[in-house]
Amino acid sequence: MKLINHINMKLIILCRLGIHKWKKAGGISSFSSNVKEKHYVCTRCGKRQNKIVPK
Ligand SMILES: [Zn+2]
Repeated sequence: MKLINHINMKLIILCRLGIHKWKKAGGISSFSSNVKEKHYVCTRCGKRQNKIVPK
């Protein structure tokens, strides 16, 4: 258990450096006819990111 916590701490340090492990989360929202929004979530720290891409 202690070892697992140690590994998680190391991975979170990567996240703090801005190296996240993005995974697609949820669906895609379209809020205009020209662009769509993709949702990503970091599997390590849980940070969310929305990426707007052209259709
Ligand atoms: Zn992260």
